Amino acid sequence: TYIVNDNCIACKYTDCVEVCPVDCFYEGENMLVIHPDECIDCGVCEPECPADAIRPDTEPEAEKWVEFNRKYSELW
Ligand code: SF4
Repeated sequence: TYIVNDNCIACKYTDCVEVCPVDCFYEGENMLVIHPDECIDCGVCEPECPADAIRPDTEPEAEKWVEFNRKYSELW
């Protein structure tokens, strides 16, 4: 899965949401999140993010963001 990290906060772009083929972006409190179970790992959103906030969960720093993304994507 891919995750959104705190670089997303205050970013006003939603290009990532528009390109996602499975619509798995959700709105958190002040940033977007990706539902980790719905993301199909296609990677097309990553280069669309001007804030470099979308990262694959294979990166060590991304690990802690997986549960955060899950929590906020399931609020809606
Ligand atoms: Fe959507 Fe693909 Fe990005 Fe996952 S990697 S959030 S499926 S665009």
